[in-house]
Amino acid sequence: MDQIKIGKFIAERRKHKNLTQLQLSEKIGITDKAISKWERGIAMPDTSIMLQLCAILEISVNELLRGEKIEMENNNQQNEQLLLELAKEIERKNKTIWTSMWAIMIVSIIGLLASISAAAFLIPEGVWQLVAILGATVVFLIPCFYALKLEVSVGAYKCKNCGYEIVPTYKEALNAMHMGTTRYLKCPNCNKRTWCKKVIKKRL
Ligand SMILES: [Zn+2]
Repeated sequence: MDQIKIGKFIAERRKHKNLTQLQLSEKIGITDKAISKWERGIAMPDTSIMLQLCAILEISVNELLRGEKIEMENNNQQNEQLLLELAKEIERKNKTIWTSMWAIMIVSIIGLLASISAAAFLIPEGVWQLVAILGATVVFLIPCFYALKLEVSVGAYKCKNCGYEIVPTYKEALNAMHMGTTRYLKCPNCNKRTWCKKVIKKRL
C-alpha cells in the first residue's frame, strides 16, 4: 500500500466535499492533526474509523486503500489485488513478529544457561547457589511470557483431527502443554484435544 498516494487521495476527496481538515476531524471525532498526518502519508486511518471516513468521503474502503477511484468494470480484479497485497503485508508483519519471538527465546535461553553455569562454577554449593539458580529461572520466565504473547498474536494452531485453525486466548495458550510451538489444545470445532501445529501464513 502506498501511504503517500492514499494521503493525497484523502486530501483530494476532502476538498471535493468542501471540508477543511478541522471540519472532517470533527465529523469523525478525532483531532485535525490526525487528518494532517494521513494526508502527508505519515499515518494511516485506524481500521475502526475507516468505514466512517469512507462514508463521509463517499468512497469505498478499497478505493481508500488503493488511493484512487476504481472504475466499476475492473473493480473485482482490483479487489483481488488489494486482498493479496493486504495478505502479503500481514504475512510480512507476522514474519517479523515470529522472528522477534525466536530471537527473544534464544537470547533468553542462552542467558539462562549462562547464569546457571556461572552460579554452578562461581558460587560454592549450598543455599546461595540454589537461590541464584532459582532467581535466574524466575527472571527467564519474564521473556517467556512476552514471547508467548507474540506467538499467540500470529497465525493459528491447526487441529490434528479436523484441520480447524484454532486461535487460542493468551490464557489458553499459557495453560496448554507445548513442544516448541506445537501446543496441546482443545479444538472448538471437533472438541478433541490434539497436538496442534502452529500455522502462520493463512489468516487474514
Ligand atoms: Zn478439530
